[in-house]
Amino acid sequence: MYTKFQQHLQKELADIEAAGLYKHERIIESPQGAEIMVKGKKCLNFCANNYLGLADNPELIEAAKKGMDARGYGMASVRFICGCQDLHKQLEKKIAEFFGTEDTILYAACFDANGGVFEPLLTDEDAIISDALNHASIIDGVRLCKAQRYRYANADMADLEEQLKAAQKNRFRIIVTDGVFSMDGNVCPLDKIYELANKYDAMVMVDESHSAGVVGKTGRGVTERYNLRGKIEILTGTLGKAFGGAMGGFTTGKKEIIDMLRQRSRPYLFSNSMAPGLVAAGIRMFEMMSETNTLQDKLHENTDYFLRRMKEEGFDCKPSESAICAVMIYDAAKSQQYAAKMQEEGIFVTGFYYPVVPKGQARIRVQISAAHEHEHLDKCIEAFKKVRKEIEGC
Ligand SMILES: *Cc1c(COP(=O)(O)O)cnc(C)c1O
Repeated sequence: MYTKFQQHLQKELADIEAAGLYKHERIIESPQGAEIMVKGKKCLNFCANNYLGLADNPELIEAAKKGMDARGYGMASVRFICGCQDLHKQLEKKIAEFFGTEDTILYAACFDANGGVFEPLLTDEDAIISDALNHASIIDGVRLCKAQRYRYANADMADLEEQLKAAQKNRFRIIVTDGVFSMDGNVCPLDKIYELANKYDAMVMVDESHSAGVVGKTGRGVTERYNLRGKIEILTGTLGKAFGGAMGGFTTGKKEIIDMLRQRSRPYLFSNSMAPGLVAAGIRMFEMMSETNTLQDKLHENTDYFLRRMKEEGFDCKPSESAICAVMIYDAAKSQQYAAKMQEEGIFVTGFYYPVVPKGQARIRVQISAAHEHEHLDKCIEAFKKVRKEIEGC
């Protein structure tokens, strides 16, 4: 059997390669940070989700070590059998305090949080109304649930209203949106979503993965940005981006919802509990967040600076309220040339094109971090200018 299957896979893989869509891994030989080592060469990293620059933070590394010394390496159990330490409860409480919510449930990843959130709560009588650009894990979570599906164009409130009208026949309704959309860096219009939810009797769920630690004056996410702390029924998020970048996901929100997830959410019931070292570092991370706002302030200052300077240099950047700056190139092949040449200049950025973004909307995505100094940002801007000259001749 395998010979035939092997040929089938070899052909598909060759097709992926020929279409220029093959994902090659770039090997890093250093901790994650503003500066990383690749093939023995120092590069500046502008494509990590390391928004607050915590991925190599000494205090978090120390907290993880202490956590392992005190509570061991692994849990070897799901939560409800024997996988719940005092540390797990503390971290859940810290997350609820951070977001101003009632309770929190941890998962191994936000992919699991989103995969396990809909099916325990909703049935075929209910409606999920989902933004067209929501993350793959939300799409998968919706697929695992029998609720009726409605989709609205990205951040399009007229379309959302139409879908809400159509969903009036359902028993319960929930609007689901990413907090920040990862390709454009736009923030969801949560104020208007919340208004429509009230008007059409719906609940709201926001995935804060790209927005937590980033959006809002103190980085508390989109509910801070729109003054809606404690008002949104469900928030999901990850510890794998701004919050240190290690691993772990969570759902936080209304008490009864979290209670029900503990009873019925499959990735919680059937997948291993978070490792003590990561949990201990997560607790320390949220303590740091409550002590000072320095990192968020620096990130916001860096993002403003980078966008302003890029615009001054004549680059076409999407407006962004997050740490994601989409530098528009439009042409797919050219976006790949830009990314490759930027790498030759020692700058790691990613070029995205169809089908990841709409046809003719190819771009370079730059992700800013509190780990970047002005000198790093300037180097990135200079590299963009040099590469533009090489490619466009001006
Ligand atoms: C990254 C991301 C996830 C997945 O988070 P993990 O913890 O890495 O599984 C889920 N949702 C959104 C919107 C994301 O950006």
